[in-house]
Amino acid sequence: MHHFQYKGNELFAEEVPVREIVAKVGSPVYVYSHATLERHYRAFDDAFAGVPHTICYSVKANSTMAVLKTFINLGGGVDIVSGGELYRALKAGADPQKVVYSGVGKKDDEIEYALNSNILMFNVESEQELDRINQIATRMGKKAGIAIRVNPDVDPQTHPYITTGLKNAKFGITIERAIEEYKRAKGMAGIEILGIDCHIGSQLTKVNPFVDSIIKLKKVIGILKEAGISLKYFDIGGGLGITYNNEEPPLPSDYGKEIISATKDLGMHLVFEPGRNIVGNAGVLVAKCLYTKQRDEKNFIMIDAGMNDLARPALYGSFHGVQPVVNDQDGLVMADIVGPICESGDFLVKDREVPMFRQGDLMAFMSAGAYGFAMSSTYNSRPRVAEVMVKGNSFEVVRERETVEDLIKGERVPSFL
Ligand SMILES: *Cc1c(COP(=O)(O)O)cnc(C)c1O
Repeated sequence: MHHFQYKGNELFAEEVPVREIVAKVGSPVYVYSHATLERHYRAFDDAFAGVPHTICYSVKANSTMAVLKTFINLGGGVDIVSGGELYRALKAGADPQKVVYSGVGKKDDEIEYALNSNILMFNVESEQELDRINQIATRMGKKAGIAIRVNPDVDPQTHPYITTGLKNAKFGITIERAIEEYKRAKGMAGIEILGIDCHIGSQLTKVNPFVDSIIKLKKVIGILKEAGISLKYFDIGGGLGITYNNEEPPLPSDYGKEIISATKDLGMHLVFEPGRNIVGNAGVLVAKCLYTKQRDEKNFIMIDAGMNDLARPALYGSFHGVQPVVNDQDGLVMADIVGPICESGDFLVKDREVPMFRQGDLMAFMSAGAYGFAMSSTYNSRPRVAEVMVKGNSFEVVRERETVEDLIKGERVPSFL
C-alpha cells in the first residue's frame, strides 16, 4: 500500500529510518513518501488510461508545494478553492489550462485573478456567482469557462461533515435549477459553457453513490443537448476513500471501471478531483511522548503534537493508526494519546490499546497526508511543524518549522498602547 514499513524493529519511510529524520529535523514532523505519492497518482491515472481525462488534484487536501510539484511533474492539474491555492499551484508550475476552481464563496479579486491566469474553468456553485463571473469577465473582455456544480442529492454514506451532495448541503445547484442556469449562461457574453461538475462528499468507500450521481447528471446532459447546449467536460469530483483502520474502499482500478462504463456513451472528457485518495496514506505525523500518567484506571500519553497539528480526530472523531518509531515497548496499554492544548477535544487517539510508550519514545500517526498539515493552525501559539519529503534513501525539508517570530508576523501594537 505505502512505503512506511518496519525493518527489524525500526519504522522506515522508504529507505530512511524515521528516527534519523527526527534526529535532524526535530519533532513533531510530517513525513511524506515521494514514491507513495507517485504510485497513488499513477494508480488513479492508469484507471482511466483508455479515456480522455484530466486529474485535477484537490489542493486543499495537502497544499504543500513539494506535493503539488510531484503531481504536476506527472502531468496532473489541480482543483482549487481559493486564490491562495491558485497562487501556490501556479508557483509550483501548474498548467493554468488544467486548473478547475470550485467553492461556494469566490470573491471578486479571486475571480479576476483566475481569469487573468487563464484557468480552464470555474465550477459555479450558485446563480449569483454565475452572474458575478459573467460581469467580471465581460468587464475584462474575457470569456470565463464554466461548469455548473450540480448537487445530485445522493447520499455518499460518509461522515456528515464531509457530505456535500445532499439537498440540504450548501454546495452546488439543484438539478432543476441547473438546467435553467445553463440556459441563462448560454446568453451571457462573458461565459463559455464547458462542462458539468459534481462532488458529493469525501472518504467514500463504495462506488454506487458515484454511479448514482453520474446517472442523474447524464439526464441533465441529455436535456441540455436537446436545448442546443453541448458540454465537453464531465467533472466527477473527488471523494474516493482510503483505509484508515478497517475500511475497504474500492481500488482506483475498480472505481475506474465502473465510472468508465457509466460514462462511455457520452464521449466526454472526464475530470477528477481526487485529494485524500492520493495523499492520505503517503504521509505520517511523527511526534514524541513527553509524559505518561495514570488516573482512575485511565492512562494518558502526553505528546508534543496536538489538535492544532492534526485536527481530524478532534474535528470528526477520525481514526489514525499509531505505530512506534522503534518497536521496543513492553506490550500494550489502554490509553488516550493527547496533545498539550488546553482543550478536552485535544486528542489524537481515544480509548485504544496502544504500545506502552515511555517518555521520549517517538510514534507515527499514520494516514496523515491528507487534511493533516493543511488543516493545522497555530492555536495556543504553537508554531506549525516542519514537513519532510523522502525519496529513496534521501530526504529534504520541504517546509521549515515555524519560529516564534513567525507567530507574530504582521502584528502591531497600536500607538495608543
Ligand atoms: C475537498 C474536495 C475535493 C477532494 O475531496 P477528497 O475526498 O479529498 O478526494 C474535490 N473536489 C471538491 C470540490 C472538494 O471540495
